[in-house]
Amino acid sequence: MNRRDRLHHQPIINRPKLLLKNNKKIILWVIVNLEVWDPELPQPRNILPPPMNVPMLPDLPNWSWHEYGMRVGFWRMFKALKDRGIPSTLALNATVVDHYPETVEAAIISAVLKDNISLFTSITNNLAKDKSINDKWRGLPNPVSSRNLSNVVEDEVVEALTETIKENYQKIAHRYYKIKSKWLKKKSLMYWDRNAPLPFQSQSIYSWKDARQIVTDAYSNFDNRAGNIVNKFFDNSWIHAPVIPGKSPGAFAASTVPSAHPFILVNYQGKARDIATLAHELGHGIHQYLAGRKQTYFNSSTPLTLAETASVFGEMLTFKSLLSITTKENERKGLLANKVEDMLNTVVRQIAFFEFEKHIHHQRKIKELSVDEICNIWIDVQKKSLGPSIKFNDDYKYFWSYIPHFIHSPFYVYAYAFGDCLVNSLFNVYESKLPKFEDKYITLLESGGSDTYDKLLKPFGLNPKKKDFWQKGVNVIENLIDQLEE
Ligand SMILES: [Zn+2]
Repeated sequence: MNRRDRLHHQPIINRPKLLLKNNKKIILWVIVNLEVWDPELPQPRNILPPPMNVPMLPDLPNWSWHEYGMRVGFWRMFKALKDRGIPSTLALNATVVDHYPETVEAAIISAVLKDNISLFTSITNNLAKDKSINDKWRGLPNPVSSRNLSNVVEDEVVEALTETIKENYQKIAHRYYKIKSKWLKKKSLMYWDRNAPLPFQSQSIYSWKDARQIVTDAYSNFDNRAGNIVNKFFDNSWIHAPVIPGKSPGAFAASTVPSAHPFILVNYQGKARDIATLAHELGHGIHQYLAGRKQTYFNSSTPLTLAETASVFGEMLTFKSLLSITTKENERKGLLANKVEDMLNTVVRQIAFFEFEKHIHHQRKIKELSVDEICNIWIDVQKKSLGPSIKFNDDYKYFWSYIPHFIHSPFYVYAYAFGDCLVNSLFNVYESKLPKFEDKYITLLESGGSDTYDKLLKPFGLNPKKKDFWQKGVNVIENLIDQLEE
């Protein structure tokens, strides 16, 4: 906030009366302030003046009362506020996270999750039981079957996907996090550092003009038809890019009816990630544009299994061309590492979530689950999927309760892994130069939602019922990690 952005000067004689609810007279806003003080430097606040007022360094007396506050005072205040149910705001220097991790942990999410864990356990038990009764009467063989039915995917295909990913936990996730620990000069990483920025990450900023050039080139080099559609979006202003007050965050491509062109919303700020997002939404845009021209209203929108095909494929094209024009070794490494992390978050992590749900729903059929039982299942899938280089503190066991999908849309999570791996396999076929790949790809997009994913993938020689289909997708991630270790 700029100083000039303050409210206009308003003397008390002109001010309307400020009234609080229920005739209350005062508002009290509790802010707890946490700081890191370096004992070697002058202290930010002095309560104990130095003898003869001659500054001393290190200023141990003043540093000590601050340090006492961090060791003891904070915990007393924390209890006093919690016991009385007083909500408060936490203000802190970012370095507090490194110096006083237990303090930050206690004050943040896990404390709230822990306080509500019995309630969430009860909700989870009731929902799973309700679902199992429903499934039984509907004759569905597995807890996941109802989700597969609505995704138009067979149980065996989802099984082939999850089994393949689980078999590869070690090769991709465990291996990558070990490398990342080394980069960050640690033996292992706490779970909150799993996605921490890398020391060599590029700070490059790309102008909107650069961004247009990069994505248009990426799509045109793949196929001129795709490149031409991308140009239409830029030339006709079908993209809203700048960040402005009141604008929706995130990014999306919106289609309406086949006769109208799609619109894209992004919040472009010039980072490499923003270019990836732009390429992603343009992929959706091309898909919607092509399907809209060939299909009727009812067949134009894609089913969930193929919904992310064009977007993730386009992101991959752009990533590859960005990589090929990046010459600085560190920037290349940063790009590769970010891509791997994105993929692990989409593939490995979501499958671990899916495994958690599977255990919960299967065991709930037999009996009600306790808080500890659910927490143990959670920690178990986390350890198995992320591997020995990621460490958890005790409070992490409550983190299952912050995933909204478990409550609102059981078993939805595998869709993310499904989409990513499917596109990786498709990209693998493209890179191995299948004849007429580009024509087949354009036909796939033009088909919209007029057929099931397995029929649409047939021209590419891909069969998702087989494990090697999914393994091809995993190999793409493995190859990227290989390049990081070269
Ligand atoms: Zn998308």
